[in-house]
Amino acid sequence: MSKEEFEKILIELANSIDVKINEETIYMFYQYMKEIIEWNDKVNLTAITDEKMFIVKHFIDSLTVSKEIEDKNTIIDIGTGAGFPGIPLKINFPEKKITLIDAVNKKLNVIRDITSKFNMDKLEIIHTRAEDLANNDKYREKYDVAITRAVSNLSTIVEYMLPFVKKDGIAICMKGPSFKEELEESKKAIEVLGGKVENIKTIFIENEIERNIIVIKKIKATPKQFPRGKGKPQKEPIK
Ligand code: SAM
Repeated sequence: MSKEEFEKILIELANSIDVKINEETIYMFYQYMKEIIEWNDKVNLTAITDEKMFIVKHFIDSLTVSKEIEDKNTIIDIGTGAGFPGIPLKINFPEKKITLIDAVNKKLNVIRDITSKFNMDKLEIIHTRAEDLANNDKYREKYDVAITRAVSNLSTIVEYMLPFVKKDGIAICMKGPSFKEELEESKKAIEVLGGKVENIKTIFIENEIERNIIVIKKIKATPKQFPRGKGKPQKEPIK
């Protein structure tokens, strides 16, 4: 796909979800897509290699949370993988401080390599498990926003996310169509961890891809014993 075609599709699709793309940043989106698809031969980063679908499912989908973060300053993307949603958000909101974490360093090395050419400041990329970093005072309850896409079920991810969020900050969980049951099962976890569901918004991309954005507000401090170690958030979610 030529850069001109790319620009047209990206801007039109962003407009369709009411997001403005800063034209000066388009080359970064384009370069990021090209390089991730190239790296994908060596490091398993994404199942999506068709360029149009890459724009839709990685860039536009990541940008669906723009309204939720526009008035926030500090964001942590937990289980970022190949940089989603964190990198599209950093490109479109360069003034925000964004931390990306993942348990798999080889994916992070690819993000480091690509973004080193973009001269980004206030971007931190850390190889760690959420459960480990959340017990570090430099990171615990320090973020306006914690965000995840496609990391695990809701009761597990809230244990990864809420410990990072400041009081009155938010956790944004990006979920597919079958989120209602997960939400029901995670009520106890959300309450125990100091959260309260504030809003649920559904966006359709190109009238067919359903993205549900669950916003959980942090209303009180997360008790010190969370997140639990030894894989417990995943194996034995709070019930
Ligand atoms: N968020 C990206 C996306 O939507 O394209 C990646 C999704 S990928 C399916 C899930 C990622 O979460 C993997 O890269 C995995 O290493 C990471 N992950 C899972 N559990 C984690 C944990 N406890 N701490 C940090 N990263 C974790």
